Amino acid sequence: MDTHHKPAPNDLSAYWMPFTANRQYKAAPRMVVGADGMHYKSDDGRDILDGTAGLWCCNAGHNRPKIVEAIQKQAGEMDYAPAFQMGHPKVFELANSLRDMAPEGLEHVFFTNSGSESVETALKIALAYHRMRGEGQRTRLIGREKGYHGVNFGGISVGGIVNNRKFFGGLLGGVDHMPHTYLPEHRFIRGIPDTGADLADDLERIAQLHGPETIAAVIVEPMAGSAGVIMPPKGYLQKLRQICDRHGILLIFDEVITGFGRLGAPFAADYFGVTPDLITTAKGLTNGAVPMGAVLCGSHIHEAFMQGPDHMIELFHGYTYSGNPLASAAGVATLETYREEGLFARAAELAPYWEDALHSLRDAPHVVDIRNLGMVGAIELAPLPDEPTKRAFDVYLKCWEAGCLIRTTGDIIALSPPLIIDKAQIDQLITTIDDALRATA
Ligand code: PMP
Repeated sequence: MDTHHKPAPNDLSAYWMPFTANRQYKAAPRMVVGADGMHYKSDDGRDILDGTAGLWCCNAGHNRPKIVEAIQKQAGEMDYAPAFQMGHPKVFELANSLRDMAPEGLEHVFFTNSGSESVETALKIALAYHRMRGEGQRTRLIGREKGYHGVNFGGISVGGIVNNRKFFGGLLGGVDHMPHTYLPEHRFIRGIPDTGADLADDLERIAQLHGPETIAAVIVEPMAGSAGVIMPPKGYLQKLRQICDRHGILLIFDEVITGFGRLGAPFAADYFGVTPDLITTAKGLTNGAVPMGAVLCGSHIHEAFMQGPDHMIELFHGYTYSGNPLASAAGVATLETYREEGLFARAAELAPYWEDALHSLRDAPHVVDIRNLGMVGAIELAPLPDEPTKRAFDVYLKCWEAGCLIRTTGDIIALSPPLIIDKAQIDQLITTIDDALRATA
């Protein structure tokens, strides 16, 4: 190996990019080199309006000075602290701040480094919780079709996105899936649909099939994001909660996307008025600036772990980077920014304008459905007959060229702008998509 060789900056060959068509991308790469507020800066010097908050994470917009300064200050003071048998003030401060923002009853916080790790952590806490209470026979986990819970083995096992599962062997045993909640009659409905709450009864069916006393936990995204934005029907989450309560099953909300104001409330649990036993978060926790996730944990669960001898480790689980100082500093500054700027309330106020703007695309070419909730939007396109996903990706490329970043999953355009977006920028985003749709065969 030539150790003196300095690779050319335009050599893209070494980096194996995640969830990316690598060959296609590297033939015509798109690069961002800077970010500020609502915009990215592309390497050819253009401002790109961010219609997706990065990947659903930069809820306060980019490079917010308060967050940048907090990270810089922390980096200068202390780079790393051991996560086990040791603490540092910022991580306790962040845990308290998160507890104060969380739905009532979720009073304890376990830190991770990503949404995927939050999911694994929540599933493991659920299993261990039952065992601590002498119900070790509760080992079954229930997920949902089209659910996305990250990419680790627990998450893809309870998840329901076929391509994320089928290449990776047998996965976790003892997992069942409820049906997803998208029905044909929901097309072009604004907000959440009135019909479909009965789909929650499938949980009762699964419970009776195996015996309710064998089921540890149910995990759902309150609003499914990555599968292309699927809403919970009115009353559906309430029903899940009731069935879980009836049978002593824990309810986990995966709020990696819906947490931190995306729906116009701190968490989807607040928005829907349903409190789960555990909430998984990541993304918006640090505004995307430093990787971090967290599991919010009901006090009844935490309490079950605190019953043993006090020299015992209560939970044999954790990560080297749990509560990392830089991430903790970013998290504290991020939550302060959300509070000081009232960004969750701002999202709620903007939501009706956002809804109208999205639904103005109803008659644009190829559009077969539009969905919206809070500051989330989805525009579903009719796929090209022999090339699924291509039409939406063509729209993505046209939007990029026209100065807007959108996201596609399959033939669905998913939108989730930073909560600082203004009405003129909403108009720009929607007009750009409209033009791209009209220019797409
Ligand atoms: N759960 C949900 C609901 C998500 O949307 C995501 C990421 N899109 C994850 C888990 C995984 O998060 P990460 O990519 O940080 O591992």
